[in-house]
Amino acid sequence: MAVNKRLKGGSPAPVTRQTIENLSGEQISTCYQCEKCSNGCPMTFAMDIAPHQVLHAIQLGLTDEVINSDTIWVCASCETCTTRCPNQIDIAHVMDTLRQLSTQRGVKASQRKSPIFHKVFLSNVKKLGRMHELSMVAEFALKAGGIRGLLKQSGFGLKMLSKGKMKLIPERFRGGKEIDNIFREAENKK
Ligand code: SF4
Ligand code: SF4
Repeated sequence: MAVNKRLKGGSPAPVTRQTIENLSGEQISTCYQCEKCSNGCPMTFAMDIAPHQVLHAIQLGLTDEVINSDTIWVCASCETCTTRCPNQIDIAHVMDTLRQLSTQRGVKASQRKSPIFHKVFLSNVKKLGRMHELSMVAEFALKAGGIRGLLKQSGFGLKMLSKGKMKLIPERFRGGKEIDNIFREAENKK
């Protein structure tokens, strides 16, 4: 299995639904796939498995897929999914748990899209002071999937624009100097 190839050293116990439920304290088995979490998630454009599919995969015991996914690394921990879940499942906390398990098991961040996503996210914040979803979706789609990727995401972008979930023009931001200082400090620490 993909995860086992990436393990460092011995063979830790396999990750099961029960493992994830015990570690996170969340009742994943109660998820009934209403998709409210995924419909509210602002990061699905960069995910390879939508949040409701993550829960479903865990229920089915397909834990390798979720531990190796891009999804757990592009999740912004915004907790929108958590607040929308009618079953009070803290999905953001499940994502944290999956990142923890992935790190513990030495899964390399080898997914092609995760580093692209992080670079695009940081450059967006550096340029505009805060995340502007539309330009970020477009840049990520282009860098991760070329023109084909951009065309594929254009429907998503238009849908979010028409629902008012994304803004066409970035909001004005006055904290440019502070943001520059934060980036400079981070660069100096490298
Ligand atoms: S916490 Fe993660 S999965 Fe949940 S809505 Fe935010 S970005 Fe999406
Ligand atoms: S909102 Fe809750 S119940 Fe609905 S699919 Fe997501 S995790 Fe499952």
